Parts: sequence; structure tokens; C-alpha cells
Amino acid sequence: MFDTAVYRELQDLLAGRLRTGEPMKKHTSWRIGGPADYYIEPVGREELQYVVSFANQRKIPLTVVGNGSNLLVSEKGIRGIVLKIGSGLARVATLEKDVVAEAGAKLSALAAAARDNSLGGLEFSAGIPGTVGGAVIMNAGANGSSVGALVREVLLLDLEGRLYRRDGEALNFSYRSCDLQREPAIVVEARFTCYPREKQLIQEEMEKFIARRQSTQPLRMPNAGSVFKNPPADSAGRLIESAGLKGLRVGGAQISTLHANFIINLGTATASDVLALIDKTRETVLARYGVELLLEVQIVGDA
Ligand SMILES: Cc1cc2nc3c(=O)[nH]c(=O)nc-3n(C[C@H](O)[C@H](O)[C@H](O)COP(=O)(O)OP(=O)(O)OC[C@H]3O[C@@H](n4cnc5c(N)ncnc54)[C@H](O)[C@@H]3O)c2cc1C
Repeated sequence: MFDTAVYRELQDLLAGRLRTGEPMKKHTSWRIGGPADYYIEPVGREELQYVVSFANQRKIPLTVVGNGSNLLVSEKGIRGIVLKIGSGLARVATLEKDVVAEAGAKLSALAAAARDNSLGGLEFSAGIPGTVGGAVIMNAGANGSSVGALVREVLLLDLEGRLYRRDGEALNFSYRSCDLQREPAIVVEARFTCYPREKQLIQEEMEKFIARRQSTQPLRMPNAGSVFKNPPADSAGRLIESAGLKGLRVGGAQISTLHANFIINLGTATASDVLALIDKTRETVLARYGVELLLEVQIVGDA
């Protein structure tokens, strides 16, 4: 869907920073994914707004990504514009008991800012490798908590390039979900309400969570965290492991021998390899335990 006029216009606007045919494997934690027609990392809000309304006016499909740590991008890649919300929108500030962060800030930077200001509540997130925007959309969580419980307000951008605010309560956060997953909106900023807590205690708890991850997750190999959501009152990893699937391989993808809900890229994995492992896992767990596993990772790109 490459279009010379669109290319010229975007290139002018972005002062040479537009990338075409950008391999998405460079932007996903799985290190998998084909080309994005147009790839843009906005340097600020104004540019973000401009690109979003440009895409809307020209009817160019738009895909928003954060750190790519929950994404499986197909080999054919993504048509239209991929907007990566990252370091150009990454300011973090504290306001009494609240921490306000732009969507491209790392979740770890948000938690560090809270800790440095003796604000508790975000300890659980230590070691989750995403952006604030991705964390809000996914209601990222661990250790019995999730970000949604702290979100007081979000600043959103609609596809016409207009900013608007929504209260956290109105977003219906639930396990790895919120209403924004079904709304054509881009998270620009989020405000989290924390509570006073001693810095040292926050730090110790975060270190404990990180150490636990290091011993239970295959962090040395490219992965996207948990592939499946946990079924009610059970664990996807437990079901996959007891179905005997740990270590199963398709091409360059393998179900981790350390944590059965992780699929690792051994170096040459394609999206099709991962999808084949996903299908095999779902079929086996359904046949053996009658449980339908639902995906936590988001699949994007042309099939
Ligand atoms: C080693 C590892 C461990 C992990 N552990 C956990 C864990 O404990 N708990 C957990 O919940 N997750 C975990 N994850 C998954 C992942 O880190 C989270 O889902 C994270 O919140 C995704 O953020 P991201 O910025 O990478 O989003 P992406 O993967 O880039 O995107 C995820 C979704 O959010 C959308 N999105 C991203 N930014 C925006 C925005 N600004 N506006 C609108 N939409 C947006 C994308 O379109 C996509 O649908 C883990 C992943 C890895 C690799």
C-alpha cells in the first residue's frame, strides 16, 4: 500500500524521520514481525495529533504500539501507519500522591518515580517491560494487583486528533482488559493515585518481585510474557505443563521449559511458528481438561 504522495507528505512533516518497510521484529520483545508500510515515532503530542488526523483524513489504517512486549506481528507485517508511542512522549511527574506519566514512559520509570517520592502502590509492576500506554490498555498486573486499580484519569486522543479525558472508574478495568481495548482511542497520558510508603520498603518489595521473575521466567530468550490469560481460579502455565507440553517446539519457537505459559524465540522463530504452537497448546488443553485458553498476547498484521 505504498503511496508516493503519502510518503512525500509524511516525510516533509517528519523532517526525514519517516521509515518505510520497517521490520517490526526490531520493535517487539519476541523479535518477530514483518514490515510496517510507514513507521513513525512521534517526538511530541503535536506531531502525534497531526499524524493521527492525517491518517484519518486519508483513510490510512493506523496501528499504535508501545514497547511491543505483548505483540505478535505477522510475517506479512502491518499495512498503513505504525505509530510507536515511546521516548518522544515519556515525561513523568509527581503531584502530591499522584504520579502523572505520558503514555510512552516505561512502566518501570513510573514505578521508580513513585518509589523516589515515597509513594507506594506500583511495586507489583517491577519487571513488567512495557510502556504506560500499553500497561493501561492491557491492565497490566502481577502479584495480585494491576494498574487499573490506581488509574485516576487518562488523557486520550481520538482518531480525528482531538484530546479528551476519562475517569479511571469509567474504563471498567478487569483482568488484562479495559473498555479502551474496544475504543478507537490512543492513550496520551495517565494519572495514577498512590499512597505514602517508606521508600526503603518499596525498594525491597520491588527487588523481591524482580528476583522471583528472574528465577521463574525465561528472560534470556526473546518472549512476550504470558501467552494465555489464566482461566478463572487456575493457571494457564499449570495446565500447559501438566498436559506435557513444556519444551514442545515448532520451527524456531518453543514452549519454555522454565515457564509453560511463555513461548520463546530460539533465534529463528516466525509468527507462524508461534501461532502453530498456540493452536497445538489450545487443542491439547481443551481436549485434556475441557478448558479453553484465551490469548493474552495481541496478534496484529496481515494474515
Ligand atoms: C518478560 C515479560 C514479562 C511480562 N510480564 C507481564 C506481567 O507480569 N503482567 C502483565 O500484565 N504483562 C506482562 N507482560 C506483557 C507486557 O509487558 C504487558 O502487556 C505490557 O503492559 C504491554 O505494554 P507495551 O507498551 O509493550 O504494549 P504493546 O505490546 O506495544 O501493545 C499492547 C497493546 O496496547 C496497545 N497500545 C500500546 N500503547 C498504546 C497507547 N499509547 N494507546 C493506545 N493503545 C496502545 C497496542 O495497540 C496493543 O493492543 C510481560 C512481557 C514480557 C516480555
